[in-house]
Amino acid sequence: MNEKTSRRLFLLGSTTAASLAAAALVGEALADDKVVPWKAGIARAVITPEKSVWLAGYGSKRPPDGKIHDLWMKALALEDADGNRVVLITSDFQGVPRSMSDRVFEQLPAKYKLSREQVMFTFSHNHCGPRLGDDLVDYYPVEEEQVALVEEYTSQMVDRTVALVGEAVANLAPAKLAMSEGKTTFAVNRRNNPEADVPRLIAEGNLKGPVDHAVPVLTVTRPDGELAAVLFGYACHPTTLSFLTWCGDYPGFAQAEIEKNHTGAAAMFVNTCGGDQNPLPRRSVELCQKYGHMLAVAVEEALQQPLKPVSGGLKTSFELIELPYLKVVNREDLHALLQDTNTIRARWAARMIQNLDAGEKFPVAYPYPLHAWKLGSEMLLIGMGAETVVDYALRFKKEFGPGTWVCGYSDDMIAYIPSRRVWEEGGYEGGSNLFEYGRPAFRWSGEIEDRIAAGVEKLVKEVGWRE
Ligand SMILES: [Zn+2]
Repeated sequence: MNEKTSRRLFLLGSTTAASLAAAALVGEALADDKVVPWKAGIARAVITPEKSVWLAGYGSKRPPDGKIHDLWMKALALEDADGNRVVLITSDFQGVPRSMSDRVFEQLPAKYKLSREQVMFTFSHNHCGPRLGDDLVDYYPVEEEQVALVEEYTSQMVDRTVALVGEAVANLAPAKLAMSEGKTTFAVNRRNNPEADVPRLIAEGNLKGPVDHAVPVLTVTRPDGELAAVLFGYACHPTTLSFLTWCGDYPGFAQAEIEKNHTGAAAMFVNTCGGDQNPLPRRSVELCQKYGHMLAVAVEEALQQPLKPVSGGLKTSFELIELPYLKVVNREDLHALLQDTNTIRARWAARMIQNLDAGEKFPVAYPYPLHAWKLGSEMLLIGMGAETVVDYALRFKKEFGPGTWVCGYSDDMIAYIPSRRVWEEGGYEGGSNLFEYGRPAFRWSGEIEDRIAAGVEKLVKEVGWRE
């Protein structure tokens, strides 16, 4: 029985057993109504470039030729009864580099009293989104006009992000949070299933894992029952498309469909740990729409199930941990690569030599961002920088149990973050490819999973998750 039915029965004043039971329910419902443990504020902004900034994520020059739909950035501010706040930003960006997100984070304390640990800046890793700052800078030929356009657009987006966070905080109003989970299966482990074989492997039921097909869902509802936002996640690269048209790839289609189904609500997507997962088969708008629809249906199915309310209380913890490189490159290593047939590697070597010439000393490790947010006693949101492979989500969900969300692609693009298994196997996500991201090394040290797990465990303890 829902609240409205029970209230109507109560008003009828019947003395039957059923109405007594209904009256008891009303008591609960009213008490529940009074206790609205959260405030939530939502803001949205279009981020589609107006000028010819190239599309990001594939190693070539990709000038835009139009748009399928707009690209979006959205922010969800949450405040508990004690005034503790967080802001989660989701976006249709391919990769937000530290050089950009730091410019946002450093403005937030003075403007909105939000410290670094209170804000998570996520990006879907959409490969039909625009270039930003020095993200994947060696992927693209250097053309003066483009360099200036990327700089201009990045500065605009820094301002827009700061304004968006302010708007979300200004919009804080009473809300209830509730969780659910759906499932959809289009993500394929791209390391263990050759792309050309995937249609056959699907037909035979022989796809190999590991995968994470869960679709975690969090709803934000106003006290009158109006749905204000749906946050949802999936572990998969938004690489269905590789053309030159602005588009949010499958998360863009999913968000648009959910917002159409629920007028006025914001649909917000986070890429959970999809570093080694691809939407396969791919490369057509029809497939992209199909995957977006599959994800939207998984969210709608999750919304049809009994939702688990998230009780009050917010705790946050954040740390930059050091991720060591296996071996930092030197001038001799770089000189040998100046004529490399891989143009990304050759551009990287030349740029790194320039940095050495300018007096830069290459660091031996990278500061890696980790977040833990505890919402009530029901939800633990772990935020991790960069392209985390699926093993991280599977590991932390197992370790910390139901209610755990593990988001990759937070705050900083950095590189692939292999698990120990993927590092040992090597290949694209585990091997010698850090140069692609402009790092001063080819590989991470093999112990990074241990370091990350120790970091996450410390933060999770600090927020007091299920002690
Ligand atoms: Zn990627």
